[in-house]
Amino acid sequence: MINQLTLIGVGLIGGSLARALRRANAATTLIGAGRHREQLEIARKLGVVDAVETDLAKACQGSDVIVLAVPLGAIRPVLEQIAPAVRENTIITDVGSAKASVVADVEQIFGDLPANFVPGHPIAGTEQSGVEASFAELFDQRRVILTPGATTSPAAVQTVRRLWEAAGAEVIEMSVAHHDAVLAATSHLPHMLAYALVDSLARQDDSREIFDYAAGGFRDFTRIASSDPQMWHDICLANRDALVESLECFTADLQTLTEAIRRQDSQRLLEIFRHAKQRRDDFCQ
Ligand code: NAP
Repeated sequence: MINQLTLIGVGLIGGSLARALRRANAATTLIGAGRHREQLEIARKLGVVDAVETDLAKACQGSDVIVLAVPLGAIRPVLEQIAPAVRENTIITDVGSAKASVVADVEQIFGDLPANFVPGHPIAGTEQSGVEASFAELFDQRRVILTPGATTSPAAVQTVRRLWEAAGAEVIEMSVAHHDAVLAATSHLPHMLAYALVDSLARQDDSREIFDYAAGGFRDFTRIASSDPQMWHDICLANRDALVESLECFTADLQTLTEAIRRQDSQRLLEIFRHAKQRRDDFCQ
């Protein structure tokens, strides 16, 4: 049981974590912080948090745990504001979708990665944003990756692990570099493809007709292109090295597919489609 927990950013992820912790009775007081009081008041009225604050340093005073649930581009300015209010034994964690950039921001503000800072990333989400889209079940049976450094306190890691387990998640640990490479391939690349496909089709002269006749397959493939553009701007720049590598690898494979179609190479096409179907069927089981 955590006595007081501050969430900086009470949107989809912060709001869902607050709801899940409430469901588990895992924290006595939840404080929500952000820039816009009217948004925070919605969170308070929905019962997601107990109290709200737009002064981020004030929101952190007396808290045992601080969770940063803001877009990646906001991590550094938020850390700058809260640093003076952070006690030595306060545990800080984050939910950012890339980890090397968060660690670099923390080192920039604190001089090093403090023992009580535990970088984290829940592998769960939707294409929606904001506290109204949050729900307590978001993390149930989903994974959360923690990427502690060599100097991170095992007790801090344990507290953050318990917090996510209380929220319904399974917690695993890996290195920052491994996290960023894996997520570039499994999450960041598909988002780039969905955005690029919709943008490309929408630019064509007959785009209206294309969208009129688009069916379920198009809807399934492009759902994530409805995700928040600012958030994905921040993610792809924060994880640019790993993402560029994934994009280049995929571009080469797309070229192979294009050539197989041009050459009417049925064998190659069926190889690609059968292999992909098998792997996806296995994944979905
Ligand atoms: P969201 O719904 O847009 O919520 C972001 C929250 O951060 C808002 O409440 C916003 O409130 C606050 N915020 C933004 N800039 C701020 C600043 N400078 N200072 C203080 N508060 C600020 O976004 P989200 O989907 O929850 O994403 C939050 C984080 O979770 C991101 O780092 C993202 O990479 C990560 N994540 C997202 C998903 C997903 O599927 N969405 C999955 C896993 C991880 P105000 O505008 O009122 O300040």
